[in-house]
Amino acid sequence: MEKSSNPWLNIEYEPVMENLGDDYYDVVAAAEFPAHFLRFRNDKLLPLLGLSPDLVEDGHFIDAFGRFSAVRPFLALRYHGYQFGAYNPFLGDGRGFLYGQIRGVDNNLYDLGTKGSGRTPYSRTADGRLTLKGGVREVLAAEALHQLGVKTSRCLSLIETGESLWRGDEPSPTRSSVIVRLSKSHIRFGTLERLHYLQRRDLIRKLLDSVIAVYYPDIPDTEDKYSNFYAELVKRIAHLTAQWMAAGFCHGVLNTDNMSITGESFDYGPYAFIPAYDTQFTAASFDYGGRYSYGNQPYICKFNLEILQLPLAMVMAQSELEVGLSQFDDYYQQHYQQLMLKKLGYSNDLGILGNELLTATINLLRDTKISYHDFFAELAQGFNSSWRSHSNLILENATFYPQVTANWRNCYRKCLNQIPLVEMDLVSDRLVNYNPQTALMRPLIESVWQAITEENDWQPFSNLVHKLQHKM
Ligand code: AMP
Ligand code: MG
Repeated sequence: MEKSSNPWLNIEYEPVMENLGDDYYDVVAAAEFPAHFLRFRNDKLLPLLGLSPDLVEDGHFIDAFGRFSAVRPFLALRYHGYQFGAYNPFLGDGRGFLYGQIRGVDNNLYDLGTKGSGRTPYSRTADGRLTLKGGVREVLAAEALHQLGVKTSRCLSLIETGESLWRGDEPSPTRSSVIVRLSKSHIRFGTLERLHYLQRRDLIRKLLDSVIAVYYPDIPDTEDKYSNFYAELVKRIAHLTAQWMAAGFCHGVLNTDNMSITGESFDYGPYAFIPAYDTQFTAASFDYGGRYSYGNQPYICKFNLEILQLPLAMVMAQSELEVGLSQFDDYYQQHYQQLMLKKLGYSNDLGILGNELLTATINLLRDTKISYHDFFAELAQGFNSSWRSHSNLILENATFYPQVTANWRNCYRKCLNQIPLVEMDLVSDRLVNYNPQTALMRPLIESVWQAITEENDWQPFSNLVHKLQHKM
């Protein structure tokens, strides 16, 4: 293939990370794979990168993101992190690298980062590979979260690479893949933690100056920019956590190397959407203590922000960090409430009744274990303005109708009556908009995977992606 016709090889990459210097990364090479099958390309992302999907061929994806034929430095980023509470100084990109950075048409800078592209100096004893199932799961997680309004990285491509891998958590041998993900940044809390470990105040400053200029452009270049940055990061992480909680999403591994410095959600391993409201639900089989359980996510994210103060205190006053973090609970609570009320059909116009409805809803979902997803999906599908006058009709067609208490229905009816009759369509629109009908529950992912692994049938996967991308 003529390289010159491949947009991925011609596009202008902006070497922001590269220009920071090699204290932050190692230049690495990609693995050579025995085969390349393009299993997914995310055409939804191409316009953001100024590309028209019809002009990008499958072969272009394979050449760029499977064969890695570009002549450019691939950067394995250096980072450490707290894993399940213990400091690990042996991390870093062990199976991925920063492929390049691109300015989007929205003027934001985006990273193209790989996962499964081969060994690096940080692979330790591992193979540098990603299983095909892991790739499939990451594509699906990102698309599902995006449709639910969570600020997240997305996968640009998934290429099967023809190797056999051995894993403890999958029937093995299992198939291999490499993904390229588009995210705001691959700079993690752990990137700063490593620099604190090395006592490199100069490198912390240099990195933060760049992070603020690129990802926090609204913060002016003044003396208090570091404290403004931390305050804004606290806000973004509180909002992200609220988005996960409202979506019913359990990330599974909230180690500080999986927390982005931009406040965006990324890196989807053993995640799960909760079947029912249960704060103790855990996604990772190895999370024995429930550290990263669904309900712990706000506490853990706040804790991660708190230990991030160690590196940040090398360049700013501790007291300012404490002021910044003290806002977390309010940001979280307010945003969570707002998102949940939207899922229930309301904007912020219910006043005190809104608190009542939210409490009643959480109590109902927790006590009955009605499917978290089905509850909201039924609300969206079955909504009828007659619910204003007849509370017994509320959710009347739902299979779980008998479990819905009169108390909750009365509360919901009272809220509807706070809204003018002419605005019932707005309630209905919000319900539909914030509660898509398709949920990425584990049995669904397993059925998609079964078709792939037993028949090499990718149709169910494509259908599911389509539904997720179109909020169906
Ligand atoms: P993760 O659990 O995907 O967030 O990965 C945690 C750390 O382990 C990161 O530094 C990864 O680069 C590294 N890692 C995970 N799996 C592999 C693998 N198969 N080969 C090399 N490094 C890996
Ligand atoms: Mg990770």
